[in-house]
Formats: sequence, structure tokens, C-alpha cells
Amino acid sequence: MPTSRNGSGQLPPAAVSATGLRKSYGDKTVLDGIDLHIPTGSVFALLGPNGAGKTTVVKILSTLITADGGQARVAGHDLTADPQAVRAAIGVTGQFSAVDGLITGEENMLLMADLHHLPRGEGRRTAADLLERFDLTDAAKKPAATYSGGMKRRLDIAMTLVGDPRIIFLDEPTTGLDPRSRHTMWQIIRKLVTGGTTVLLTTQYLEEADQLADRIAVLNNGRLAAEGSAEELKRLVPGGHVRLDFTDPAAYHHAATALREATRNDEALTLQLPHDGSQRGLRSLLDRLDAAGVEADELTVHTPDLDDVFFALTGDTVPSPNQPTEAAR
Ligand code: ADP
Repeated sequence: MPTSRNGSGQLPPAAVSATGLRKSYGDKTVLDGIDLHIPTGSVFALLGPNGAGKTTVVKILSTLITADGGQARVAGHDLTADPQAVRAAIGVTGQFSAVDGLITGEENMLLMADLHHLPRGEGRRTAADLLERFDLTDAAKKPAATYSGGMKRRLDIAMTLVGDPRIIFLDEPTTGLDPRSRHTMWQIIRKLVTGGTTVLLTTQYLEEADQLADRIAVLNNGRLAAEGSAEELKRLVPGGHVRLDFTDPAAYHHAATALREATRNDEALTLQLPHDGSQRGLRSLLDRLDAAGVEADELTVHTPDLDDVFFALTGDTVPSPNQPTEAAR
């Protein structure tokens, strides 16, 4: 667990702990009191639509901009009192990429090694190791401008790792990447965490948060609308159901009589029942249909997913409740 005790029996300090972070631009309140607690060694996803304020949080925590209010400690150091120590402990990659397209991948890496004052030999070794680790050795001597989106992101992370940061902020690491590059990036992030790095990741993609994060916070209208593990968030919204579709009106009416608790749609000839998606529940439903001597033309199971949570919390357009995520038959 990320909160394991160290040798002296004390809990390590949280990687990030922030209370009441506020930021406005003119009349526009972007952050309206944000509290964050990110245990060391965990992955935390800040999820929100475009313009929700995710980058603003990352910029504040990485000392690029100052908050109008609130307090935060990163790697145990106060943001205001000791910004240098914060900067020394973190790495940031994302929308404000550090990659220089005019020079090669290797030169970008060596530049970072110089910035971190690594001796020449060690800098070369570190650069070569990281280029290898991120599958960039073949492209190392080519200008970074010729790299694909996925390669640039990999180089950006590799550059961040030259300083061996304990905490990494990844601002929308997979926005705009194709599915294969996205999966590669997920693997990279998982490996970082296995190595003990703490990751704060911002994303617009629910699936990404679901795949990677120990905890997820949903940012909406300047506040955290909810926070928890993916499972905890999914439990916040009801919505698991089974839908039965019929083409034969007689069969539909038979079934509706047998399943009195179902919500009826007499026009579409569909019945919808709340359901936890379990095998046992499905079997009992099918038994009841068998006992009534009716067969549905189609049965679909909908389990609530993070999309449901997100739409419920952000009050955004609710997807059709009839949209199945998993066809059972
Ligand atoms: P996200 O990363 O979630 O897409 P941002 O943190 O980039 O959101 O932006 C949140 C809001 O703050 C947006 O409405 C954006 O236009 C506004 N904003 C960000 N930076 C500035 C700035 N320097 N000046 C004015 N408005 C800004």
C-alpha cells in the first residue's frame, strides 16, 4: 500500500497535500477551494472536461503560478516557503512540453542532464538508458520535430526522469494520441509507479482514470465534485439495469405481467429492471421468464461505469439510459 510505514515506524509525508486552493483570472473563478491528498507511491487522477482547471492545479503545485488562496505541501515542502525544494522533488510533463524540436532526442536528453548538473559521463549514460527504456534509441539521432506524437510524449517523460523526481505531474499525457500510443503510455505510467514514483495525472478520459488511478477526483465548476477509487465513484450512481427487448406485443405483455417491477415502454416494447449485473441475478431473471413461458428477443446488461458517474456529477448531457455497455445475449 502507498501508505506503508518507513523504518522509523512513521508514515511518509503525503506526496501532495493541499487545502483550499483558489485561483481566479479576472472575474472568472477557476479554482474555488480545492483540497487534495495524494499518498506517496500512488496514482491520482484529476478528471475534468476541457477548461475545468486541471492544468491550473498542476501549474500551482509545480510552482509555475501562485494560488490566490490556500496552502499546499509537495514532497513535504511548503509551496510558498520552499518552492526550490518542491521543484527539486518533482517532474512535470504535459501540454507545456519541454521538447525542443530543432535538436535531436539525444541532444534534448543531454541538455536536461546539463540542467541537472550531471557529470558528462553520467549524463551520457543516463540519457542512453532512458532513451532505451522509452524505445527511442533508433530515433535518438533524429530531430525531435520529426517524431510522432507518441514519441514526443515518451521523450518528454524521459527528459523529466533525468532528474530522478519522486513525484511526477502528467498533464493530459495521452490527449491526441492514437490508441496504441495511449496504451504504451499507460504501461510507462504503471512502471513508474511500480518503481515508487507518485503520479498526479490529469485527464479528460474516464477510461484512463479507471485504468491507472488509485484515486480519482472529479473537477467541476472550480470544485471537486467527488473523490474516491473508481469503484467507490461507481457506487455513487445507480444505473445498473437489464433491458429486455421484444418484437411480439403478446410476448411483451406476458413478460410485463410476470415482471411487475419492470419499467415499461409500451411503444418500444422494452422492459427495464434495476440489476446488479451478477450471474445469480441474471439466472433468476431468466428463470422467471422461462416460468412465464416468454422469451425476449434481446437482453442487454448495463453496469454503471465512470461515464455515468461523470455525467451525474458534472450535470452534463446524460447519455441515453438505453445505451448498453455490454451485450449479454
Ligand atoms: P483544463 O486544464 O482543465 O483544460 P485550465 O486549467 O487550462 O483547464 O483552464 C481553466 C480555465 O482557466 C479556462 O477557462 C481557461 O481559459 C482559464 N485560464 C487559464 N489560464 C489563464 C490565463 N493565464 N488567463 C486567463 N484565463 C486563464
